Amino acid sequence: MTDLTITRIDVFQAYLPYSGGIYTLSKNRTYTSFDATFVRITTSTGLEGWGESTPFGSTYVAAHALGVRAGIAEIAPHLIGLDPRHVDRINEAMDDALLGHEHAKAAIDIACWDVFGKAVGMPVCDLLGGRTDGRCAPQAGYVGHSIKIAGVDPVADAARITAALADRQPGEMFLVDANGGLTVETALRMLRLLPASGLDLILEAPCATWRECLSLRRRTDVPIHFDELASTDASIVQLLADDAVEGIGMKISKNGGLTRCRRQRDMCIAAGYTFSVQDTVGSDISFAAIVHMAQTVPDRYLRCILETRDMVTLKTADGPFEVVNGRLRAPALPGLGVTPRMEVLGEPVAGYC
Ligand SMILES: [Mg+2]
Repeated sequence: MTDLTITRIDVFQAYLPYSGGIYTLSKNRTYTSFDATFVRITTSTGLEGWGESTPFGSTYVAAHALGVRAGIAEIAPHLIGLDPRHVDRINEAMDDALLGHEHAKAAIDIACWDVFGKAVGMPVCDLLGGRTDGRCAPQAGYVGHSIKIAGVDPVADAARITAALADRQPGEMFLVDANGGLTVETALRMLRLLPASGLDLILEAPCATWRECLSLRRRTDVPIHFDELASTDASIVQLLADDAVEGIGMKISKNGGLTRCRRQRDMCIAAGYTFSVQDTVGSDISFAAIVHMAQTVPDRYLRCILETRDMVTLKTADGPFEVVNGRLRAPALPGLGVTPRMEVLGEPVAGYC
């Protein structure tokens, strides 16, 4: 095998304006722009790899943009001289350098997969296990919908859910996402206010804590997904042990990058969970990682993917993410298949060698 080692890691930064104006979550959290971090790994053969990590502000999960760059500063010097194709060894080296902070490790991990693919002439999705037939393309119409609820007034939340599902079309599915904003009491009151005939929905991230979510689960037959609380290998194991959910929201940076998501994907499939493949937010490079991972998930387990590119107005990279027969496909190019727009990313804000 040809020697291939990391010789340099550069960090870039950009602000991604939210395309919808103001994004509102429960607990009065609002967001208008997202601070994105990009990583470029340069190797001894001249191959480069790219990754992105863009937290959803600083109040969604325990992640924030300054933390991404501070984490990379802690980690990057320890990776110089390592082979980026050895993704498990890279992740061990990152864990040895910094405990936790998966969102900082994600951008580096994604860049390593990009290099890996380029080094062997294969798309990342094929290295992750092989592509399936592809995902339903947004151009063919969104089929998965996330209904955000405020978590304060059960009457208002129940009315919002009922209205959102009033013109449900065949094939559509609805995730009612409280982002941890409900108490067990408000969740039970809200569910009781829904039409007695029953609505086809999944309750996502109902409460902020594990205990509350388990307490709620014992009292309702509504399917439940975890998102914010499902962020590590250990949390997925605990979900299985507690029989706590029917599925999770997998977000590439929240869940620690493609290497960890690969493991968590397999754990979810083994458990019979359904899951979405998303990211907290992000631009074109995050989207590329989402598509490559989602491309490997059999249809019956994949709830939906997140079109992060529609959420922001800045385009940071180009790539042939084509729609074939209404299905979005990861590029057949080696690696992620993206070409960063250097005129957008500008000069590095940090570099390690
Ligand atoms: Mg969610």
